Amino acid sequence: MAAPTITHPQPDPADRIPRAPLTEQPESGSYTDSRGRQRKFRRINRPLSERFWLKVHKTDSCWLWTGHIATTGYGQVGVDGRKVNNAHRVAWELAVGPVPDGEFVLHRCDNRACVNPHHLFLGSARDNLLDCISKGRFRHVPGQSEKKLTLEMRCAIRERANAGEPAAALANEYGVSPVTIRRLVARKTYAGDTGPERQG
Ligand SMILES: [Zn+2]
Repeated sequence: MAAPTITHPQPDPADRIPRAPLTEQPESGSYTDSRGRQRKFRRINRPLSERFWLKVHKTDSCWLWTGHIATTGYGQVGVDGRKVNNAHRVAWELAVGPVPDGEFVLHRCDNRACVNPHHLFLGSARDNLLDCISKGRFRHVPGQSEKKLTLEMRCAIRERANAGEPAAALANEYGVSPVTIRRLVARKTYAGDTGPERQG
């Protein structure tokens, strides 16, 4: 008696998205599977080095970030799925290399949305702060903050809050309320601060 034929269900190769060279594969789209069903797909693993430059509009001088721009004026880009980083910093990392610990990527041009590596340079936290203060044309909105925070403090608070420190901890350290910190970071107070308080 012949051995029974056992068939294992095999994945239908037609169900798979055809592999194309990375540059030709669209971000999303649809295809018809072997049973004639319309299926949608979305690429999630496009490497940063590839998708980053697709969002850059190169002019003769500045290269402008066309993706999300934060209230600080800096471009923002998603990294590793969830982390968000400053676009000019990512541009530096892609074009030049890693940013050494404690260093910041600063702009030579006055355009925070610019990601042209030729317009960027590395500086220390102190350079960053001095740059912030020297460019700090600020306007105090009266009655919105009980305690006066100096421009230097505001630069430091915005930088640290944007780096992920909780408002409550900063409020405690600077002796103000968390609301004051949040309003400061959201630029509801001292909206005229123009220093690069969030670099790198
Ligand atoms: Zn520029």
